[in-house]
Amino acid sequence: PVVTRFAPSPTGYLHIGGARTALFNWLYARGRGGKFLLRIEDTDRERSTPEAHAAILRGMKWLGLDYDGEAVSQFERAPRHAEVAHDMLSNGRAYKCFSTQDEIQAFRDQAKEDGRSTLFQSPWRDVAAADHPDLPYVIRVKAPRDGETVIRDQVQGDVTFKNSTLDDMICLRSDGTPTYMLAVVVDDHDMGVTHVIRGDDHLANAARQTMVYEAMGWDVPVWAHIPLIHGQDGKKLSKRHGALGAEEYKAMGYPAAAMRNYLARLGWSHGDDEFFSDTQALEWFDFNGIGKGAARFDFKKLENLSGQHIAAEENAALLHEIADWADVQSDVAFTRDQISLIEPGLDAIKGNAKKFADIIVKSHFNLISRPIEIEEKAAKYLDDVSRCILKELTPQLQNASWTRDDLEACANDFCAAHEMKFGKLAGPMRAALAGRAATPSVFDMMLVLGREETCARLRDAAE
Ligand code: GLU
Repeated sequence: PVVTRFAPSPTGYLHIGGARTALFNWLYARGRGGKFLLRIEDTDRERSTPEAHAAILRGMKWLGLDYDGEAVSQFERAPRHAEVAHDMLSNGRAYKCFSTQDEIQAFRDQAKEDGRSTLFQSPWRDVAAADHPDLPYVIRVKAPRDGETVIRDQVQGDVTFKNSTLDDMICLRSDGTPTYMLAVVVDDHDMGVTHVIRGDDHLANAARQTMVYEAMGWDVPVWAHIPLIHGQDGKKLSKRHGALGAEEYKAMGYPAAAMRNYLARLGWSHGDDEFFSDTQALEWFDFNGIGKGAARFDFKKLENLSGQHIAAEENAALLHEIADWADVQSDVAFTRDQISLIEPGLDAIKGNAKKFADIIVKSHFNLISRPIEIEEKAAKYLDDVSRCILKELTPQLQNASWTRDDLEACANDFCAAHEMKFGKLAGPMRAALAGRAATPSVFDMMLVLGREETCARLRDAAE
């Protein structure tokens, strides 16, 4: 069975790269009936904060990336990490190193002078069962001195590291705390992780971590190191490019499904498919679709997918998401209790919205009530002539049966009788019904508003 994990360090919000790593792990596991676990790598006590921890959980929740069981705290597992360091001591794969900082520095200076590798080679490595109860020591794992370590990576292919570049890395510090390199391996092993999917900035770590797997006789997981995300211009991702927290995308009003679709496409592809559902992504996701080059963040593509997801989403689910979004909005004049006012027009407008704010803008006509405040841009449609036109049109509409066909016929007949184009009528009607120049189609608005409200607004404007 497949077991994957997402292992964020809680030092900031859930950024876009982290969200994508989480998604890839989630897709890989869930698409194979496996487990997806969460481990909070909170060993850096100075930089880890409860706020960041909470923000990561909120971001994952918004993205629908549910994990199995409880989130594991790496920090709390420190005793277990120390135990493994001591196991490696006992089986001879690690040793106590009593070298002081000064001695290590002296070694490096000398090596540099001699033109040798400055990787520290501890004199304690081959001293049998050295012990000095009164001296501080670190526990180092014995790195292989010859040959190579090959990382069989599902994305990068076979990547070879010369063992001469690996040092006897520290697993347990002199204060008894485990190093990150040890903790990751012990946790992945104990959590039963079968596939490690993470950013390719960790590729060299895989070679170092392999030493611990081998020292303990544990199976090495399947590795998949995914390329980082760059901005549209190919440069390192910055805020300007979209290096924002997952929650900021929620605030911008993109549906979570669109964000999943977009993130999945960021570095992974399935033929020419751009727009797809979760079901399809779960079925299709595999390592062979992951590209080797850095992915490029593209806001336009996100907007485009967002529009398609909004159009495709069921109204009930869409309204629910819009309500959640409205809760985190301060600059949009819309609240959760106005949801029932956008529902009637939703079918008509959701096909033309790129984000939730567009739906609110297009629902404006139904969120307001008489007397309608008329924007300057719209007011110019209401000159004396147009007011006469509206005055004459209203009684005819009053008698129309309130169906789209009949309303259209009524408007067309009216235009024909007055030898005018429909465009001449639409402007004043938009102004009268919504107080704005840009609105959904006048027929959509009339159908949502109903006969009485429509005619009342037209009469108000004609006065
Ligand atoms: N905590 C590491 C990070 O946030 C992830 C390490 C890993 O996935 O092995 O970069």
